This record gives sequence, structure tokens and C-alpha cells, in this order.
Amino acid sequence: MKKVHVFNAGPCLLPQEVYDSAVEAIRNFAGTGVSVLSISHRTKEWDAVMDETRALWRELLNIPDEYEIIFLGGGASLEFLYVPMNFLEKKAAYLDTGVWAHKAFKEAKGLGNAVEIASSSDRNYTYIPKGYEIPSDADYFHITTNNTIYGTEIKEDIDSPVPLIADMSSDIMSRPVDVSKYAMIYGGAQKNVGPAGVAFCIIRKDALGKVSRYIPTMLDYRVHIDKLSMFNTPPVFSIYIMHETLKWIKSMGGVGAVHAMDVRKAETLYAEIDRNPLFTGTAEKEDRSIMNVCFVMAPGYEALQDEFFSFAKAHDIIGIKGHRSVGGFRASLYNACQQEDVEALVDCMKEFEKLHA
Ligand SMILES: *Cc1c(COP(=O)(O)O)cnc(C)c1O
Repeated sequence: MKKVHVFNAGPCLLPQEVYDSAVEAIRNFAGTGVSVLSISHRTKEWDAVMDETRALWRELLNIPDEYEIIFLGGGASLEFLYVPMNFLEKKAAYLDTGVWAHKAFKEAKGLGNAVEIASSSDRNYTYIPKGYEIPSDADYFHITTNNTIYGTEIKEDIDSPVPLIADMSSDIMSRPVDVSKYAMIYGGAQKNVGPAGVAFCIIRKDALGKVSRYIPTMLDYRVHIDKLSMFNTPPVFSIYIMHETLKWIKSMGGVGAVHAMDVRKAETLYAEIDRNPLFTGTAEKEDRSIMNVCFVMAPGYEALQDEFFSFAKAHDIIGIKGHRSVGGFRASLYNACQQEDVEALVDCMKEFEKLHA
């Protein structure tokens, strides 16, 4: 296969080892002679995958015993509804850091009293709001740790006086997290831990069971916890690939080790954006994401944008188009993206500079 440098924002690049084991499992799952696509999810071989996948999550993120880990269909977008359904009684507080954060808020508002306590929409979400106050009477405070579209990131585990719930779709497993600071962490797997089709939820069990509404069976986290994510047929293949991806993270030395690699990749690309007169970064420096690097042509060079897309494509650089709501460029440096891929992009930017500066 031709070597291309893939910077897609999601579904993300996965390690070659994961693709290889996916192919093998489609042919012959765990030596059963049956494809993983056709295996019954009520078999001991499949139970073993579920158990190991939960155990890998627990080990890689150091998840305490009071937390349950479940895997659900519907993506992060359905979690936007699950969260207020399971946690909102009187009032929910949301931090508005972009389109995804706002979509999560919208679902809470549809179910009850929800407020956005701070927003960075005034400057097209290029920064993370600071100095806001979290209302102490809220049932929970919801944040989006990494804003995939704008390239901003909350890089610390913040203190919250009320249960903290985080959408970590696009930076999960890119840094060690103090899980004990959260009531819940969730996300779609397809940004950093697997393919599309499954969402992960890490939930502190005692945070559940506090709402009085009727919760439809499929939307009740307690049902999925009780049934070990197999109340109904789980997204078997997506979970299998997530399992393989987590094994790969472990083989790389765990989350601390991939974090060091992720930081180096991001620093390499931001350094070039800051040095190269043709380009400029869009996010506030202190809030820059290590996962999604957003940039545009610098003032005076705007007309070169399409030419740079073609130039990059000719250099086998794939997936650097910015989200349609912001334009420009976005390079997503998820865990499976390698330092050499970033260096290929940087070399391409340098060559382009020679042609035009
Ligand atoms: C991609 C993304 C989502 C939406 O995920 P789906 O699985 O497609 O529903 C939500 N939140 C963030 C931060 C994302 O990056």
C-alpha cells in the first residue's frame, strides 16, 4: 500500500497492527473458525473480549473501582441526551466551547433547566473561557475537554464543586486523567480509541439514580451497567477494534508514553506554524490542543489556500481540510499519527514557503 500521511479528524487513523488484527478476526475470530462479524455475542470467547476491554480501560486510565465502564451505540451525540436523562433533576451547567459543547447543551435544555455559564463564541471558539463560576446548585457541570473543530483543549482536570461530566471524544487516551475528579467521562471511540460505531462511558456508580423522571430502558445507564453493555446486541466489531487499539496503547508504554509522543508531535507542528510566515495558528496559544492543530494562511497569503491543499495532496498529505464551519487547515494528530507524518507535513510547509515567501 502507498505510504500516505493521514490527518483525518475522525474516523481517525489507527495503527497498522490494529488493521492487521481486524483482518485476521474477520477471517477467524480467536481461533473459533468463525468471523468476528458472525460470532454470537453470547459466547465465552466474546465475553473474554468484553472483560479484557474493560480491564484495559481500567488499567490505562487508572480507573478506580467505584466507576463502571460501558460501551454503547449511538456515538457521542446520543450521550448528549443520555447525560441529562440520567443526571438532570433541577439544573445543569454547561461550558460552551464549540459546536459539540453546544449540541450537548441543547439536549439538556430540551429536558429541563440548563444554563451555559460561559462561552467563547464571541471569538469563534478560539479560546477556553476562564474565571467563570460553577453554580453550586447545579446537578452537574458539563465540559468538552477537546474542541475538535477549533483546536482548543482543557488540558487539566479542573476542580468542580458539583459532579463534573466531560465529553472527551477527541482527547481520551492522549494524556493521563485523574478520573476521580469526574462523575462521568464519555466519548465516541472514533477520534482516538477505535472506529466509529461505539461510545465509551466511565461512570461513578453513586452519581446515578438521583433523578425522578421515567428513563426509557435503552437510555438508562443502570440497565447497561447491570447487563455489562450487553442488554442488546453491542457493536461487536467496533468494540473488538477498540480492544485491539487499547492493547496497542498498552504496548506503546501506556497513556503517559503516548502523551509524550503526542506533545512532541504537536510542538513540532506548532513551531512550524509560528515560524513560517505563510501560516498562522487560529487558537489562543495557551489553549492549543495537542490533538487537533488548526491554522490558516497568514494575512496577505490568503489567496494561496487552495494551492496549498493541492501542494499537500501531491505530497501524499491527506485530511488537512479544516471543518466547514471554520475553514483553513486542521491536522489531527491522534495517537496513531507518527512523528514522521508530522515531519512530512512540516517539510511540505517549508517547501511551500520557498515557492512563495
Ligand atoms: C466528533 C465529536 C462528537 C460527535 O461524535 P459522534 O460519535 O459522531 O456522535 C462529539 N464531541 C466531540 C468533542 C467530538 O469531537
